[in-house]
Amino acid sequence: MATTTATSAPATTATEAPKYPEQVTGMYILAEALRRIGITDVYGLVGIPVTEAAFAMQKLGINYYGFRFEQQAGMAAATHGYLTKTPGVLLTVSSLGFLNGLTATTNATVNCYPMIQISGASDPTMVDMDMGTYEQLDQFNTAKPLVKAAFRCSHAKDIPQAVARAYRAAVSGRPGGVYIDMTTPALAEIMDASEAEKLFYTPVDPVTAYAPNQASVDRAVELIASAKRPAVLLGKGAAYAQVDDKIKTLIETYKIPYLAMSMAKGLMPDAGEYSALSCRSDIMEKADVVIVMGARINWMLSFGRGKWNPDVKFVQLDVQPTEIDRNVPIAAPVVGDLGLSLDAILAGLKGKTMAADPAWLASLQAETKAKNAKFQARLADAAKASPMTHWTALGAIKPVLEANPDVILINEGANTLDDTRDTIDMSLPRHRVDCASWSIMGMGMGSTIGAAVATGKKVVAIEGDSAFGFSGMDFATISRYKLPCTVVVFNNGGIYNGVGVDPGNPDGLAPTTLDINARYDKIAEAFGADAYYVATPEELADALTKSIAAGRPSIINVQLAADSGAESGHIGYLNPAPLIQYTV
Ligand code: ADP
Ligand code: MG
Repeated sequence: MATTTATSAPATTATEAPKYPEQVTGMYILAEALRRIGITDVYGLVGIPVTEAAFAMQKLGINYYGFRFEQQAGMAAATHGYLTKTPGVLLTVSSLGFLNGLTATTNATVNCYPMIQISGASDPTMVDMDMGTYEQLDQFNTAKPLVKAAFRCSHAKDIPQAVARAYRAAVSGRPGGVYIDMTTPALAEIMDASEAEKLFYTPVDPVTAYAPNQASVDRAVELIASAKRPAVLLGKGAAYAQVDDKIKTLIETYKIPYLAMSMAKGLMPDAGEYSALSCRSDIMEKADVVIVMGARINWMLSFGRGKWNPDVKFVQLDVQPTEIDRNVPIAAPVVGDLGLSLDAILAGLKGKTMAADPAWLASLQAETKAKNAKFQARLADAAKASPMTHWTALGAIKPVLEANPDVILINEGANTLDDTRDTIDMSLPRHRVDCASWSIMGMGMGSTIGAAVATGKKVVAIEGDSAFGFSGMDFATISRYKLPCTVVVFNNGGIYNGVGVDPGNPDGLAPTTLDINARYDKIAEAFGADAYYVATPEELADALTKSIAAGRPSIINVQLAADSGAESGHIGYLNPAPLIQYTV
């Protein structure tokens, strides 16, 4: 092995230049380790000390996507991971770049998306002595509590193992975000190529699927068979698992009504025969056995209390043992990988007599019909509004997107999120990605890019004007890589809406006020993409149809009324009670 570093002396002098191909550096070893483990795409934003690592990845045939903001590169990696069941990879620089990316890696961990953030980092021996080195930050310990696993490479020889372990950690069990602190000494270290070659290995069975134990399966089978009013609740963990046929078999064989959490929409068709999407409260109030698959019984499900039937019994299928009993006692936990759990449950149910009351399904189907008719009437009522409301715009978008079911829908905002989720029926699995469990703003452009790259499919992002602001600059990235993405910006001029009033100054701007006359479509022009400005539902339907057909980067600025949209959308109840009367 040739020389280098790992010293606490200030590394001010450049190391001797390596001689390729007899020698390699940590940069090259990192790129090669990623390639060998099957990583095909990396998202990032380069600078000292990782610039050459990105070039090395490209040299080895990895596609590198350069962003304008690390957080969005991270959102892309996370979405890539969610849609492919392989870790998305984010490359960041030290200090602020690391922290910007870490927000996305943390969000990925919260949402059970597999991703690996690899960040350049200062020499840890200098950080530990608080020498005030370039971009000094103890990144490893900063990341550690926020991710599923963290590794620090201080030597080039550790890189292949760190990559393999990070891969395993990201995708095994409950998926999540993993951090690799890639220190400058490790990246700069020079090794003989023949020595480096010995470091690479192929990890055996990196994605081990755990089978549930038979007693838990038997218990679940008994409960399901005994249910009078059963229901299935699908979460994004079930979508992630890619066991669509098994879920379909359970639901269709036993005619069990189902309800999907927002990113599980389309796993079974929203408009399918057994869909109870419009009957959420009936299911909560009346179902006696609910089979929860890959969903956490958290705030989005009222913690399993309150609105729920107090006698409901849950069968919970989850890969994470600590998820069981989190907020309500679970009558039949089945801990294991969803595919293996469903195999075992389907085998157990074979030949069993089901106690389900046929009137239960029939009543939900009748209710669905009535609710859907009411919803259509609501869209029809809004169809002529001028300026448009959210409902006018969504009434125009609905038939276009539903006629293009293979387009992936990215969605964030407040009213834009809630109303789009309620309006657009999904019919294919993993075709909806939104702001998920944290309900955050600021995943839009990154997730749009990750979805387009990971799947090769066309993507439409429906964004509130505020939500778009968090990631809008990475529309430049969509344009630069010529991705088939349409970004629809619902402009109502504000956070929630554009009619807020500054209570201290009638001439001031409310905290919620943005730019009702902004022309977001001009951003598309700036980057050579297609630009549409629409003010009527006809123009919107036409622009969306054209942009999807063209498959080119485009922005559609949808002019809405400033008073369209309620504060906090559907979750205003989460706000503390107001002290002062304010207008939004
Ligand atoms: P949603 O927001 O759609 O309700 P959550 O993110 O709350 O979904 O829940 C996803 C759940 O899915 C997590 O508890 C996670 O452990 C679980 N999960 C992820 N992958 C699998 C899998 N392959 N098999 C079983 N459960 C899984
Ligand atoms: Mg808005």
